[in-house]
Amino acid sequence: MDATLQCRCRSVRGVVTNVSPSTVNRVVCYCDDCQAFIHHLGRADLLDAQGGTDIVQIAPAGVSFCEGQDHIVGIRLSPRGVYRWYASCCRTPLGNTLSPAIPFIGIVVQAFESDGQRPGELFGPAIGRIFGKYAIGHPPEGSTRLNPWLTARAIGMVLWWRLRGRTWPHPFFDHTTRAPRYPLRTLSRDEREALRLLCGPTPTGQSLP
Ligand SMILES: [Zn+2]
Ligand SMILES: [Zn+2]
Repeated sequence: MDATLQCRCRSVRGVVTNVSPSTVNRVVCYCDDCQAFIHHLGRADLLDAQGGTDIVQIAPAGVSFCEGQDHIVGIRLSPRGVYRWYASCCRTPLGNTLSPAIPFIGIVVQAFESDGQRPGELFGPAIGRIFGKYAIGHPPEGSTRLNPWLTARAIGMVLWWRLRGRTWPHPFFDHTTRAPRYPLRTLSRDEREALRLLCGPTPTGQSLP
C-alpha cells in the first residue's frame, strides 16, 4: 500500500511506497532529543501526555517528496546529532535521519493523517515505547528497559534495507555527494539547553505559546 505524507498546511507533500505493519517499525520515543525538537518547532500538540513522539521508521528509498520541497529545512540539536527535517511553512516534522550509512527515516505518524488515511490502518499500532526514563510523569510500562526483541527488529530492518539497496534514492541526501539536499542548521548550546528545560522527565520551563 502507498501512503501520502504531508505537512499540516499541505504545502509539502510526499509519498511512501509499500507500507504495512511488517515493513516498518512504529514506536513511541520519549527521548529528550525528540522532545526538544518538537518544542523547537513549537509543536507540542504532536507529543503525547508524557512527551512521547509516535514515530514510524521507514526505508529511505520508499520516501519521496513531490510538492513544496522549497519549504524543507533541517536542524541538528548538536554537531553530531540526528538530522531532523521539517516543513518550515507550518513547522511539521518530516523525518529524523542518521547519515545514509544507517538507512532509516523516522516520521511522526501525524504526517500521515488525512481524510481517508489513518496511521493505524497503514502501520498498525505502536509496537514499543522507548527511552521512558525521559517520559514526563510515570513512564509507560516496559519503556525504561532496553527491549531486546524491539532492538533486534529495528537493527534487522535497517540491515535488510541496506542489503537490499533501500538507501537510495534518499529523500534528504544527494546520492553522488552524500550532502544534505536541504538547508541545515545546528542549534547552539544555549538554544539546546533552553529546549531541555521543556523536556522530561521533569520539565521546569514553560513552552512558548
Ligand atoms: Zn506546511
Ligand atoms: Zn527520540
